[in-house]
Order: sequence, then structure tokens, then C-alpha cells
Amino acid sequence: MAHRVTLIPGDGTGPELTAAAKKCIDATGVKFQWETVDAGLDVFNQQGTPLPQSLLDSIEKNRIALKGPITTPLGTGYRSVNVALRQHFDLFACVRPCKTITGFRCSVENADLVIIRENTEDLYAGIEFKEGDAATLKIIDFVKATLHNEIAPDSGITLKPISRAAARRIGEFAFRYARENRRNKITIVTKDNIMKFTDGLFHQEIEEYAKQFPHIECDHFLVDNMCFQLVSNPQKFDILLAPNLYGDIISDLCAALVGGLGMVPSANIGKDCAMFEAVHGSAPQYKGKNLMNPCALTLAGVMLLRYLGESDAADRLQKAVETVVKEGRYVTRDLNPAAYVGTTEMADTIIERLEGG
Ligand code: NAD
Repeated sequence: MAHRVTLIPGDGTGPELTAAAKKCIDATGVKFQWETVDAGLDVFNQQGTPLPQSLLDSIEKNRIALKGPITTPLGTGYRSVNVALRQHFDLFACVRPCKTITGFRCSVENADLVIIRENTEDLYAGIEFKEGDAATLKIIDFVKATLHNEIAPDSGITLKPISRAAARRIGEFAFRYARENRRNKITIVTKDNIMKFTDGLFHQEIEEYAKQFPHIECDHFLVDNMCFQLVSNPQKFDILLAPNLYGDIISDLCAALVGGLGMVPSANIGKDCAMFEAVHGSAPQYKGKNLMNPCALTLAGVMLLRYLGESDAADRLQKAVETVVKEGRYVTRDLNPAAYVGTTEMADTIIERLEGG
């Protein structure tokens, strides 16, 4: 029976990249029934909302989606569709594997990291107070009265909630992931020398839970030191476990280590629902130019295939991507600026290298 999956092309370069990734995934021979639903900037311009009900209904029904990147315009009231989808379906765990492909020259060798990011809380919870609003001024007064701290009256405020329950839930997920994927070290990443009641709580809760797994090493780094360590010696890390914001930032850093944003996939996983995408955004300046690397979304397809239990197809597709990147002849500009092909040509080469499709 075909797997029914919601396909969200997204905007900017999203539609061309999802088309390329879908072609590669279909070429594995696994049967899919794709349900395509639009979301993002173009839908906002037509329907007045970037996140139409038809999309929520489709994911509600299928419980699994492959999503192209979606633009979040800066400085408007427009909230991120990406964050809204993760929150609506409680996709609390974000998993981002960053692995160098042996034989392909990138800035480091033999890095094999997995970033696990808590997806629902922290500064991304969307609790924001606008400069000058009555509620904002109330908070400023409250902080002054209770903590004797001055917040400038012309401030905007964003809240950073981190709960014990959410820290425990992502901790449980990370240790289960480590066990199932034969990984033996988890490094917690926070800034709890400064944010003791939020990052400190996240760190303590997970460290406590880690005691149940004496065979999995668990240590901790402050996020600033972690950035330094990742650039100088990424091979010493295995799984990095972080709250929402740090997880997002170190994902891009790790992407740069293993070949760039065009190479890193991302899975957003909830209790019985999952959404797969690239780490990168919509790169709107390249829209329609057939220049972007299709690997990140295709590797997101590999993660989707694994999630569906199609591990043979996942292995074959992963191997085909690695072969094409290693060969370095039919790759996009980010991987070989001296001689390169377009998005569609690279996807076609991946399909050619796919064994048993
Ligand atoms: P971006 O990831 O879109 O692009 C940054 C740069 O990375 C690009 O200019 C390009 O040089 C490179 N890049 C990105 N994807 C690539 C690919 N597949 N192949 C080769 N190079 C690639 O980041 P941005 O410009 O900061 O964000 C653009 C928009 O995307 C923003 O509106 C942002 O909010 C949104 N965004 C969406 C998601 C998502 O949908 N999950 C994630 C991040 C950013």
C-alpha cells in the first residue's frame, strides 16, 4: 500500500527543491500518495494567511509531511509558519544529523554529529510584547516592583519559558535516539551560568535523567565554548542536546562544517506525527534559478523513509547522494564552484546512481 504523505512545496526556492527531492524519493520504488498543499508567502498574498486550514487538515489526517522551506518576513506581525506547524502538532524533537561525506573535501574531516533540539519552548515560544503596549509597560512595572530591576521603558520583551516537563521529554527522546542509533555520548548545550532558572533547569533535569543510562556518557558545555569547540575539534562530539535557540544556531554552524546548508536535513518529531525538511531557509534571492543544492531535502527524504520503516530504500538513497557528492562532477555550485550543474541535473544524477530503484 502507498504511504500517504503531505507535501508542502513552500516558497522561494522551496518548490524547485521539493520537486527534485520528491523525484529522488519516488525513484527508490517505494510507493507514495503525495497530497500537495501550499503554504507560505504566496498563499499569504492570495488568502491572507500563510498557514491555510487545508494544510493543518492534511497533516492532521496523514500525520507525516515533507516540507520545503518557507519565508518569514522580518519586522512584520507575520509569525513563522515553520514554528507554528511545530507547535500546532507538538513536534517537540528536532533531529539534525551533520556528517561529513568521506572523500568530499569540506572544512573538517570525520565529523558525525547529531543535533537534537527542543522545538516548542524557549525564546521561540512566540511570547512577545511590543514596545509601548500596555501589557509591556505592565511587565516593566512588575519587574521593577518585584526584582528591583530596571527595564528601559522603550523596550520590547520576549519571554523564554523552559519547563521541567519539556526538558524531561526531550531528554527521554535523546537517550532513546542514542540507544536506537548506537551512539554513546550526549552533550548538553546551554548557557546556565547566566540563565540559571531556564537553561539551568534544562541542564539539571536532563543530567538527572541521564543517571538511568550509565553506559551513555553525558557531559555539558556552555554554548559559547561549544561554538569554539565545534570549529576546532568537532570529532570529539556525538549527540548535542540543546534548547530551541542554541539548537538552531549550532545547526547552521555544524552545517558549515560538513559542506554547507545544502547538505543538512532536519526531522521534527512528535508523539505520532512527523515533519521532514531541510535546515536551510527559502533562499528567495535564488528562486527559479535552478542553482540550489537538492541534497538537504533529499536527505530529509532519507529520514522520512527511515521513519516509515523503509530502511532499504533509505540506505540506497543515502548512498546515491553520497556517491554523487563524492564524485563532485554533477553537483551544484555550493559544492563545486569551478564546474557545476543545476538543481534538477544533480537530482537526475542522484537517481542515475540509485541502486535497485
Ligand atoms: P537561507 O538558509 O534561506 O539562506 C542562506 C544562504 O545559504 C543562501 O543565501 C545560500 O547561499 C545558502 N543556501 C541555503 N540553502 C541552500 C541550498 N539548498 N543550496 C545551496 N546553498 C544554500 O537563510 P536566510 O536567507 O536567512 O533565510 C531566508 C528565509 O528563509 C527567511 O525568511 C527565513 O525566515 C526562512 N527560513 C525558513 C526555514 C524553514 O522553512 N524551516 C529555516 C530557516 C530560514
